[in-house]
Amino acid sequence: MGVTHEVTNQVPRLVGHDPIAGDAALAEACVRHADVATLDSLKALGALAGSEQAQEWGRLSNENPPRLRTHDRYGHRVDEVEFHPAWHDLMRTAFEHGLAGAPWTAVPSAHPATPAEPHAHVRRAVGYLGWTQVEMGHGCPVTMTYAAVPALRAAPELAERYEPGLTATAYEFGLTEPSGKRGLVAGMGMTEKQGGSDVRANTTRAVPNADGSHALTGHKWFTSAPMSDLFLVLAQLPEGVSCFLVPRVLPDGTRNVFRLQRLKDKLGDRANASSEVEFEGTTAWLVGEPGRGVPTIIEMVATTRLDCVLGSAATIRAALTQAVHHARHRRAFGALLADQPLMQNVLADLAVESEAATALAVRLAAAVDAGESDFLRLAGAAAKFWVCKRTPTAVAEALEVLGGNGYVEESGMPRLYRQAPLNSIWEGSGNVIALDVLRAMSRSSTALAAVRAEVDLARGADDRLDAAVGRLAAELADPGQLPVRARRIAGLLTLCLQASLLLRHAPAEVADTFCATRLAGDWGAVLGTLPGGAPVGAIVDRSAIPPA
Ligand SMILES: Cc1cc2nc3c(=O)[nH]c(=O)nc-3n(C[C@H](O)[C@H](O)[C@H](O)COP(=O)(O)OP(=O)(O)OC[C@H]3O[C@@H](n4cnc5c(N)ncnc54)[C@H](O)[C@@H]3O)c2cc1C
Repeated sequence: MGVTHEVTNQVPRLVGHDPIAGDAALAEACVRHADVATLDSLKALGALAGSEQAQEWGRLSNENPPRLRTHDRYGHRVDEVEFHPAWHDLMRTAFEHGLAGAPWTAVPSAHPATPAEPHAHVRRAVGYLGWTQVEMGHGCPVTMTYAAVPALRAAPELAERYEPGLTATAYEFGLTEPSGKRGLVAGMGMTEKQGGSDVRANTTRAVPNADGSHALTGHKWFTSAPMSDLFLVLAQLPEGVSCFLVPRVLPDGTRNVFRLQRLKDKLGDRANASSEVEFEGTTAWLVGEPGRGVPTIIEMVATTRLDCVLGSAATIRAALTQAVHHARHRRAFGALLADQPLMQNVLADLAVESEAATALAVRLAAAVDAGESDFLRLAGAAAKFWVCKRTPTAVAEALEVLGGNGYVEESGMPRLYRQAPLNSIWEGSGNVIALDVLRAMSRSSTALAAVRAEVDLARGADDRLDAAVGRLAAELADPGQLPVRARRIAGLLTLCLQASLLLRHAPAEVADTFCATRLAGDWGAVLGTLPGGAPVGAIVDRSAIPPA
């Protein structure tokens, strides 16, 4: 075939960068809440995250989604899921770099929020935010393993048996007896057909066995990562909804009843398997008090919510990185896109959104290290609402920076776009989380005081923040129709927190632009509407990840 044209003006592949150390906002947050040694300890992970190898794992695990095998060739039920080898490479990397249960490595009797290392949760959070930019789907089982540990401590005997595996930095795939494995993966089963948000409507029943265990009968409509070793599952006892530990393999080495009915055909998150499960006489052990299942599993959900914020900040950052890279190499109308004022406005607006999300996400992780449970309870819920809600908007805009190329699978942007709404849905969908923000404030005055104290660290630094704090106080003082205003309140609370963090820690151009737009309303309904005079060039420069 003859040469019909010369290929020009195509953007080189982004490879060899370090999304951890190379991201100024993330690296600074790591040093701020931990130290330089913590950041340095993530060097190998950062380098791998930017490598062609890891990007290939991400592509392959999504293009070859998991497959359900209900039976073996002889007709015996096996209820297994097969994954592409690239999935296991992603999982192994995450576990070996300490992104799963490792930060909790401490004696099981210790307070749940007491890590062995003073900055263990910040280290993990920064690593998670950088590494999951490669592929978001495997973040789900990594998160659930991390989050299962504090909840399981409500049953000290079970914690003693399984915590070493859950906190190990080893990944061992396959259904064998969990206490003999080098590393364990955990999952969670709450959502049933008749309702996910309202878990009190769960119909799965638990009946005591003579040996102290229970037998579960019922179903779960969503159970992700069904090849995990252990699950925390909600079921009804006469006392009410209770929390149980369900292993896939029983202590005698036989398989527990864990029937995988189907895998969900999902919008995104395609590398990860999400299943429908049925239980029939499934062996389970009680975790926590009978009838106290919701408070027990809330330990787990509080931690998975942190990861929703981390994962959403990672999604925004991954999209921004691609957008800035593209704009710095693609020319249109005689100039690089990155040098064109309106494109700079779009990129700068995205960068401000990303920096605010990152700063807040790492601050939340620092609260886990410090045992700031009041702060985490309220700020975690508000951030889960707002940062996750901002993600699809940001990703859609970043995708468009690549023009038509961004709409094509090979660019990787459609995968980010499909993933973007998920963190807002699971672990409490938008409305449920916004209402939970109200609940957290009404039930604990110390939670609101802890968040206010953090915001107040920047009081007086910027009139627009002071005015926003006044508006928030007025919203809270008005008792009328609070539920209708829950999203407004959760959003405003988060914006005040983000502004406080940026005013204290980000360069002036980022903090000032954030306050002018997100707090003072000098902004449009879409991204890329920063006011004239905004220091867009400096903001974009800061957001660019240096090439290798
Ligand atoms: C990919 C994927 C994986 C998942 N994996 C798991 C898993 O591993 N384990 C698990 O247990 N679950 C899992 N889930 C389920 C998820 O947590 C639930 O879908 C979610 O909690 C919402 O529950 P629901 O779907 O029953 O919606 P519903 O509870 O029916 O809610 C529907 C809508 O109504 C809103 N709403 C509910 N109550 C109110 C109210 N009082 N006022 C105003 N609005 C309200 C909600 O915000 C939501 O927008 C997964 C979901 C997805 C998409």
